[in-house]
Formats: sequence, C-alpha cells, structure tokens
Amino acid sequence: MLIFISHLITGAADLAAAFLLMFGLKRMSSPESARSGIRVAGVGMLVAVLACFLNVVGVSAAARPHLIVNIVLAATMLMIGVGLAWWKGKTVKLTAMPQMVALYNGMGGGAAGAIAAVTLIGRKAEGPALILALIGGLIGAVSLSGSLIAWAKLDEVLKQPLRFKGQRYFNALVFLATLAVAGYLVFIWQGGAAPLLPIFALIAIFFGCGLLFGVFITLPIGGADMPVVISIYNALTGLAVALDGFVLQNPALMIAGMVVGAAGMFLTLIMAQAMNRSVSNILFSDFGDATKHKQGAIKGSLKPVEASDAGIFMRYAKSVIIVPGYGLAVAQAQQKLYEFVKLLQAAGVEVRFAIHPVAGRMPGQMDVLLAEAGVPYDLIFQLADINPDFATTDVALVIGANDVVNPAARDDKSSPIYGMPILNADKAKKVYVVKRGQGKGYAGIVNALFYAENCNMVYGDAQAVLVQMIEAVRGLGAAVA
Ligand code: NDP
Repeated sequence: MLIFISHLITGAADLAAAFLLMFGLKRMSSPESARSGIRVAGVGMLVAVLACFLNVVGVSAAARPHLIVNIVLAATMLMIGVGLAWWKGKTVKLTAMPQMVALYNGMGGGAAGAIAAVTLIGRKAEGPALILALIGGLIGAVSLSGSLIAWAKLDEVLKQPLRFKGQRYFNALVFLATLAVAGYLVFIWQGGAAPLLPIFALIAIFFGCGLLFGVFITLPIGGADMPVVISIYNALTGLAVALDGFVLQNPALMIAGMVVGAAGMFLTLIMAQAMNRSVSNILFSDFGDATKHKQGAIKGSLKPVEASDAGIFMRYAKSVIIVPGYGLAVAQAQQKLYEFVKLLQAAGVEVRFAIHPVAGRMPGQMDVLLAEAGVPYDLIFQLADINPDFATTDVALVIGANDVVNPAARDDKSSPIYGMPILNADKAKKVYVVKRGQGKGYAGIVNALFYAENCNMVYGDAQAVLVQMIEAVRGLGAAVA
C-alpha cells in the first residue's frame, strides 16, 4: 500500500515538474516574463528532485540495502552543489557568464555520463536499455570534455584553435574506436565471448575514448563559434540525461532531458541561421581562424573625435540607433548608456537599440544588460526588424561592438565572418564608434567600417565616454538656461 501511494505521489510530482519546466521555458521567450520563467522552471526542478528522492524511498527498502547512506550522501552533495551554485551565481561577472554556462553544461554531461557508467559497471540494465546506457554515456562524456574545452576557449586559457594535418581522420578514428569498444561490450554481454580485458577496464576505455573525442572535436573550432558549440553540447547533455531517464525508468529525468535537448537543438538552429551557416559548417570548417584571412587594402582613415562633440551632435539629431556589443558589458556602462538615452529622448531625439543575435559573448547578453539598466523593451529591436531603418537614421552609435557591424561579412568572401548577417550601421548618415583603441573583435579581423567616410571614432572606455557625453549634453541645457 505504502509503495502504491509513493508511486502515485511520484507520478503526480513528475507531471507537475514537467508542466512547470515547460511553462517556465515558455515564459523565458519574452524579456518581460523571463525572470518569472526562471523561477517557475526552478520550482519545477525542485519538484523533480523531490520526486526522485520519493521514488528511491518508495522502492522497497529491502531492494536497496544502502538506502539511508545513499540518501544522506545525495542530500549532502545536493547541498554542496546548491551552495556553490548560489555563491557563483551571485559573484559571477556578466562577461564571464558564457564560461559559467559552458562549465555547468559540462557538469550536466558529466553527471549523465556518471549515471550511465554506474549502470554499466553494475550491469543494471539489459537488452535495449544497455545500448541506451552506452549511447547516453558516450554523449555525456563528449559533452563533458567538449564543454570544458569550450570553457577554456571562452576564458582565453586556450587562445588559438588547435589544428593539425589529418585531424578529421584522427577524430573519425577515435570515434570508430569508441564504437568498437561499445560493440565489443554488447557482444560480451550477449554471451558472445569471454572478455579479453576485465569489464571495468573496457568500460574505462570506452569512456576515455568518448572524452578524447569531445576534446579533439572541439579543439579545432574557432572561438567565435563557441556559443553555437555550447548550445550543441547543451542539446547533447539533454539527450544523454533523457536516455539515462529511459534506462532508469525515471520520468523526471526523461522529461527534463528532453526539454533541455529540444531547447538546445532549437537554439543551435536559430544561432546557425543568425550566422547564415549550417551546423556542419560551424563544426567542421575553420571559421574564426583569422590567420587564414588575407586582409585586403582598406580605404579611408580612422578619424577620432571628442566624446563631447559626438554627444552634442546626437543631441541635435532626429534619430539615433544604438548598437551595443561586448565592450558595453566589459565596461558595465549600461546604466550610463540609458542615462544618456533619456537625455536624448528629453531633447526629442528618437532613440532605438539594435540587437544582433550574437552580440556579446552569449545569446541574449545584450538584452539582459539593457533590461538590468531598465531600458524599456519597446526600444529594443532585433536585427531583421531594424536593419532596413539604418539608411534613414541620422546616427548609428556603435558602442563596444565590432564584428556584428563589420561590412566584411557582406562584401569579403575570404573573411572568416563572410555570410554572417550584420547590423547595417554603416548605412546610417553618421556613425560613431566607441572603443578603447585599435583592439579587434572576437573574430580577430580589421573592421572597414571604422575607416569609412561617414564614421568617427570616439576612443575610451565606454563608461568614461558616456560620462563625457552626458556632461556635454547636460552642459548644453545649462548654457541655454
Ligand atoms: P566584438 O568582440 O566583435 O568587439 C568588441 C569590441 O569592444 C572590441 O573591438 C573592443 O575594442 C571593444 N571594447 C572592449 N572593451 C571595451 C570597453 N571597456 N569600452 C569600450 N569598448 C570596449 O563584439 P561584438 O559584440 O560586436 O561581437 C560579438 C563577437 O563575439 C562575434 O564575433 C560573435 O560571433 C562572438 N561570440 C558571440 C557569442 C554570443 O553568443 N553572443 C559567444 C562567443 C563569441 P577595444 O579593445 O579597442 O576597446
């Protein structure tokens, strides 16, 4: 009877968790409701974890001799994990979020791989479930090591893509070796032959090959493609967790895994579409290798102007489109930017923000920054919606952005970013670019926009530049008064 009741409650909790996770995800699709969406999904995850505990307790205690010890161990690890995540979430800089996402994703893959490893070592699955555990384990291992390499690249621990001759053949060989070990394990488990090595050693080789494959497939990919790579690993981690859910017959794991897998897959496709490239091109081309790019001669010159002059020019413009980029996040200048925008609006200037899907170092990073500063959502426009308007706009203010406004993506077939849709800032009547110096963007290439006739450079840290612009525009008001 007790077992029946526990199954009933667990089933209901799983259903509630599934609903909360999907409802939370739905709310994350709009900036207005995203915060509450995260909370709802968090509650869903909590319900799913509680359901897992209940599920374990519900299964007859006799079948689980170490029940209490295991529950205490799991609860202790959970508390340590929650504490670390809470502390890291509070202290992480917004510019370091992509690295954190890569790390957390890797941990998800590692956890899925570990569940599969325990299942395989303890031979807790049979028939098709055994094969699912092998597939889940492989995907989890690849996600773990691949995400760690992605973290190292984003954190600039690894600065250059590592490529060598015959790399693709080597990768294919590692993959085939992994499949061969998996096939051999299944063959042994089906009673085909006595193992040449202890089963534990074979399982270790299988996971070792999977981890190596994740490392070698990620190493040659250029840094500029890391967001898509993380998104792919996110989808894979979800898939591995869902497969573990099937193996363990745990609905909460199945649902959470499938939700993560599907969301990661869609994000991957959306990002690839935003860069006008196929997923296979991202994974297997040498995109982002600036060393291969032969920079053509650039016409024009860099024309620096004072921040105060640029500020005053915008004060008398009719319309301004602001293109924020990674440098805005580095400078943490979002509050000052909005203060400047409010001054322009008070003077009757129409101000809008243009967001590129891969501006910054994480999808949605610019939206988060602007939301944090309190910028109303109706001032924020996505690439396709605002691009036609640049041609009729007085000023494009490019602040800490570079690659996302580089016309080479349109005109230069040899450029590593060729084909990526860009914001047409160069088409505005006047362009101001705020950056500290001659630093390149993430793709490591020169930007011809900076040399264009209609473009002026405003050198300095974005925050310091905005303070000067604000003072200059305020000074005008004081002078008139
Ligand atoms: P970029 O990286 O192209 O350029 C940023 C610019 O900001 C630099 O040229 C730098 O120049 C300037 N900058 C840095 N710090 C400051 C500061 N404190 N004040 C003022 N300017 C500063 O950024 P974009 O946003 O234009 O493009 C994003 C790039 O990152 C794309 O190539 C994208 O593919 C890639 N990427 C995107 C991810 C995503 O998911 N969004 C994730 C990972 C990569 P200087 O040093 O001279 O100041």
